[in-house]
Amino acid sequence: MNHKLLESLNPEQQKAVTTDSQYTLVLAGAGSGKTRVLVHRIAWLCTVKNYSPNSIFAVTFTNKAAGEMQERIEELVGAEQFAGMWVGTFHGLTHRLLRIFSDAAKLPSNFQLIDTDDQHRLVKRIFREFQLDEKRWPTRDCAAYISTQKEKGLRPGDISPADQMEEIWKQVYTSYQAMCDRAGYVDFSELILRAYELLTNNAEVLSYCRKRFKNILVDEFQDTNHIQYQLVKRLAGDTANVMIVGDDDQSIYGWRGANSDNLQTFVNHYADTEIIRLEQNYRSTGAILQTANHLISHNQARLGKNLWTDQGNGEQISLYIGFNDLDEARYVIGQIKKYHQDGGNYRDCAILYRNNAQSRLFEDTLLQSAIPYHIYGSIRFYERQEVKLALAYLRLLYDTNNDVAFEQSVNTPARGVGDSTIDTIRNLAKQQNQSLWEVSERLIEMTVLRPKQRNGLSRFIELMNTMRKELAEKPFYEQIDRIIQDSGIYEMYEQESGIKGQSKLENLEELVSAAHQYYESAGDNLVDVHSGKTLTVLEAFLAYTSLEGKESSRNQDSVQLMTLHSAKGLEFEQVYIVGMEEGLFPAQRSIPDKDRMEEERRLAYVGITRARKHLTLSLAELRRLYGKEERNLPSRFLNELPPEWLNEVSFRGMTYSKPQVTQKEPVSFTFEDEESDYHYTQQDYKDKRSTKRNTTAGDDGYTLGRRVSHRRFGEGTIINLDGEGDHRRAQVAFVNEGIKWLVIKLANMTFL
Ligand code: ATP
Ligand code: MG
Repeated sequence: MNHKLLESLNPEQQKAVTTDSQYTLVLAGAGSGKTRVLVHRIAWLCTVKNYSPNSIFAVTFTNKAAGEMQERIEELVGAEQFAGMWVGTFHGLTHRLLRIFSDAAKLPSNFQLIDTDDQHRLVKRIFREFQLDEKRWPTRDCAAYISTQKEKGLRPGDISPADQMEEIWKQVYTSYQAMCDRAGYVDFSELILRAYELLTNNAEVLSYCRKRFKNILVDEFQDTNHIQYQLVKRLAGDTANVMIVGDDDQSIYGWRGANSDNLQTFVNHYADTEIIRLEQNYRSTGAILQTANHLISHNQARLGKNLWTDQGNGEQISLYIGFNDLDEARYVIGQIKKYHQDGGNYRDCAILYRNNAQSRLFEDTLLQSAIPYHIYGSIRFYERQEVKLALAYLRLLYDTNNDVAFEQSVNTPARGVGDSTIDTIRNLAKQQNQSLWEVSERLIEMTVLRPKQRNGLSRFIELMNTMRKELAEKPFYEQIDRIIQDSGIYEMYEQESGIKGQSKLENLEELVSAAHQYYESAGDNLVDVHSGKTLTVLEAFLAYTSLEGKESSRNQDSVQLMTLHSAKGLEFEQVYIVGMEEGLFPAQRSIPDKDRMEEERRLAYVGITRARKHLTLSLAELRRLYGKEERNLPSRFLNELPPEWLNEVSFRGMTYSKPQVTQKEPVSFTFEDEESDYHYTQQDYKDKRSTKRNTTAGDDGYTLGRRVSHRRFGEGTIINLDGEGDHRRAQVAFVNEGIKWLVIKLANMTFL
């Protein structure tokens, strides 16, 4: 077959793109072109098979991956064709469906998305109503329980509680749902369950969707959960073409109910599924690929795959052992800086970590070095406290009945409207079936509240009324700007000292420019092509901010920071996986459980396979996390990598099973030789880091692998060297004392 769309594909990929099978599974390892196949198949269906772009329903996992997929499709078929397609995440697409069919879904047309924090707040409120003991029945666990039930497709009526706790949680779930339904709130898992129920209970909507979506394509299928799988099945019926792509070795959301068995379930359900395997990896160098393959071979629960590349081996994997976490961060940022000075782009560098809390040190170090960066992942831009706050004011201006927005804004900045006042308002609102705003408007005319509270509340109502009047004619990005100034938000964060307050102010500025950008480019996005339903630009923006990540910086050249989980599906020239330590990665809570350990290992596999040209793994001997200093052992995964591809380090003498490197031993930095080294200036540091690492031999006879003896630490092996002259250092793995960096000039070591 000869077609432009097939030119850059290998024969197996071509087969997948052009197949006439109704059901297809592309099962293949990382970087083998699964997403590329999906994108090309969409273009193939529309340009060669003459399907309408409206027939495409394509799902992927994260906002960032969806954004990249959109770009890739648009490049192939053009913006006009692309506009008719439904491409996005499960959450994004079901949200769109529910907006269009809100009546049929029994939702108010202006239903509001609530995030996990809001959800938790509602659960807490119910706990207070029921007078439940929060210590005995943790509210966060209960909120998570509700989400899990929804992910399983279960409503309270479907649950037979196993014990007393579940009995209580079931009741909270019932009240929670009633509360959401009354107020028109929809949480993230509700989006998918509601959409599923809509398709199940409403024949008209189902028939509309099935007529329209003739082609359903799902990326990262190994991470679908039960209800997502059911949704796909229901949407597909017997007539749609369904292509799913996935990799069981990259299943990393088991902890959230995802089930890679869904790959198998799909094949069992659709008996005539064509299975296509791809084996050539186009992303990574041989060294990276072999490292990944070697690691994942330690897992037992696998379908089994081979991956090869014709790219050549490329550079070795670097391993850096920092003497503390700051040293680790400085090393990584130093390398990135150097890469940039040599002509590379920041955006091609990614720092990946297991745990969100690890990002802070890297953020601070990047800020200090004035290097632009962007964080993806759990705290998304529009979920940041300061951004949410400004948007809450905007929502309330536009819709005074929005109780979530009312609660978020009424006493921030503080106006003397405390919890007890809010409780009073809430109770009255419930009794009289009115919104918090309506009740407040009446309350300030009466003497129910004490003067201080009443004043505070009255100032708030007045502020909102004035802003509404003054801003009515202004575009909403200007409104946001004014809200930030007039509400006291700006002043509040200005008083917050240090980097944190500063970055909040920057985020608020970013919000105004993001709104501006959205306003300028909104155009056609506001009308759904098929139903013709129109949203105002403000409605569309508010809906977008409750869902999407910060897209505005996509084009800026900045270092990419994210958790390993949110890196799925992406690729970067330079990847740094940091914090390779037992307890951190693998996470402590996974260590005792075999299945969870395998999931951690798959996560490491995902991380390693994000790298195209160069991979660096790093760890710190000493780490401060959550305010505590800890000494962790090197991650067991390091011992599962092929040593021939690891640069500079051999783990002999310091494996995680060796007792001499004991966990949490008392920390001291009193060694005379290390001390002098530790207090170098930043300029020194830069000088040192810019000298080529891995200097094999200086004139001094120090070489990697050479055995040395130190009068205090005893015998050891040199595993790393860097710096020059007086700053030249050796990293030595001592038989009995663990790993240490020593300034050669001061250390007085002898060769053995
Ligand atoms: P993951 O499992 O990580 O999601 P994937 O299987 O989806 O990976 P892609 O992201 O589609 O892989 O492809 C990996 C890289 O290889 C991309 O840069 C893609 O453009 C490139 N690629 C895929 N197939 C080919 C090909 N036949 N020729 C050249 N480059 C290719
Ligand atoms: Mg992919």
